[in-house]
Amino acid sequence: MTRLIFLGAPGAGKGTQAKLIANLCSIPHVSTGDILRTAVTNQASLGLQAKLYMDRGDLVPDQLVVALIQERLKNHDAQEGWILDGFPRNVAQAEFLDSLLNEIDQPCDYVVNLDVPDDILVQRMLERGRTDDTEEVIRNRLKVYREQTSPLIDFYSKRKKLAIVNGDQLMDGVTDDLKKLIQR
Ligand code: ADP
Repeated sequence: MTRLIFLGAPGAGKGTQAKLIANLCSIPHVSTGDILRTAVTNQASLGLQAKLYMDRGDLVPDQLVVALIQERLKNHDAQEGWILDGFPRNVAQAEFLDSLLNEIDQPCDYVVNLDVPDDILVQRMLERGRTDDTEEVIRNRLKVYREQTSPLIDFYSKRKKLAIVNGDQLMDGVTDDLKKLIQR
């Protein structure tokens, strides 16, 4: 059974790799970014509330994402493993997740930090061209990452869960490193 949390700056390649590994292990890829974007497209109430924040590159309020993760992880398809991508994104979310995983008795195996230098991140996001990938919004997402998400590296390192994977290599190289990690 595989349970992984993917950390990493925006543009680090979390989404691509998380999807690949989830397919390989036949477990759900749970991406808060994807779930929120779908809610925006469907004009669901969650989406209407989230859109303002996403368009600015700010974090959506914790109460919204925490509720959606709680529901998602209790779904029957998530009982045999999962990959979390984009959650948690700040210390409050990580503390919430800690107690949720305790409660449902599903400890995570590793927290993967996909490590990529800043200049490469900006370059990748500009090439991707998502609607929230304008230069100004990208800069803000990186700032939010540095201030709110990067402290989680320390948080999980102290809990002996952290695995650092070099994200600045060809895609297949990253995938190979991840495969080695889950075979450990
Ligand atoms: P990226 O691929 O750039 O890391 P994501 O697809 O994970 O971006 O997320 C896009 C946007 O969705 C974020 O900028 C943020 O506004 C919102 N979001 C996603 N996950 C969370 C979360 N756990 N907490 C708050 N906001 C979130």
